Amino acid sequence: METNLKQLIRISRLYGQNPDYVIAGGGNTSYKDNERLWVKASGISMADIDEDGFVCLDRKKLQAILDNKYSDLPNIREQEVKTDLHNAILSSKNKRPSVETSMHEIIQYPFVVHTHPTLVNGLLCSKNSKSVVHQLFGDEVIYVPYTDPGYTLFKAVETELKIFRTEKRKEPNIIFLENHGVFVAGDSTESVQKIYSDIQRKLLRVLVELPGNHTVPHSFISVINKIRDVNDSAFIVSDADELTQFFVKDEDSFKWIAKPFTPDNIVYCKSSYLFLKQGGDLALEYLAFRSRFGYYPKIIALQGKGILALEDSEKSAHIVMDVFKDMMKVSYLSQSFGGPRPLNQKQISFIDNWEVENYRRKISKGG
Ligand SMILES: [Zn+2]
Repeated sequence: METNLKQLIRISRLYGQNPDYVIAGGGNTSYKDNERLWVKASGISMADIDEDGFVCLDRKKLQAILDNKYSDLPNIREQEVKTDLHNAILSSKNKRPSVETSMHEIIQYPFVVHTHPTLVNGLLCSKNSKSVVHQLFGDEVIYVPYTDPGYTLFKAVETELKIFRTEKRKEPNIIFLENHGVFVAGDSTESVQKIYSDIQRKLLRVLVELPGNHTVPHSFISVINKIRDVNDSAFIVSDADELTQFFVKDEDSFKWIAKPFTPDNIVYCKSSYLFLKQGGDLALEYLAFRSRFGYYPKIIALQGKGILALEDSEKSAHIVMDVFKDMMKVSYLSQSFGGPRPLNQKQISFIDNWEVENYRRKISKGG
């Protein structure tokens, strides 16, 4: 019989290899018995994870974190929690457990698979997300309004869980996190998979269909050369498919993707993107963007042409593009539920200043 840890590895790879569920280092999974919890290490990709990609923790010490009082100052608090998490590690200490470890601990099922599915986020990043979640899934699921990731999000989930348990006398299998993703939990990996396909089936019935991935031919060479004149260390990948065309038509269409929807969008693409109008001076706007925001844009939209993703290596430029394309899909799908609801400035600033996420970005770049 397949051991539980082997099953955890198998289901992690299954969803990790599917970009409709997980991109780059996003998402995390766990298995627990009575004493120990195995959770994905921060920044490790689920796609090719093996036993070394998990951190094994002492559940008694994790329980203590749940009951501890921490500082009200976000930076100090996250540091304190990080130290306590580190002290709960039973396996080698050179890997950090996922920032969402405490969430895995409080869910009572042995298997927990947390992902950021495109279809689910099309719903969770839309204006009508909350009411539609309850229409589609009834009151057997938990819906958690957007909360800053880390300890505060965990506390919000804990509160909702306690209410659910008191009212229903059972444990939920699905926890939806607004502008973020979903936690699915079960007694076996089979039941987790079944729940995920139920979610997908329900959503496909009500979602608009995404445009095809037919590429519209465009040459980006002159644009790329202009960027290289200003910043010769940038690696650039381009995209001009039908979905992209929908958003680069004009400034109004671009507004639908001008702000990030999820913490991951910010981690990989930052929170502001450059839209270049037809006939605009790229070199000038590229430099002006940097003086305004303090960094070169990672995403440049060229009106009527397409989108460029820029990073300091080819691998990371592709990750930026993958994450931004996912963001475009989420925005497009949100039409079915009243249109997109991006994060607000306060929520964005929290992620911008969050050390834990910077660590994740660094690891997934191979740094
Ligand atoms: Zn997440």
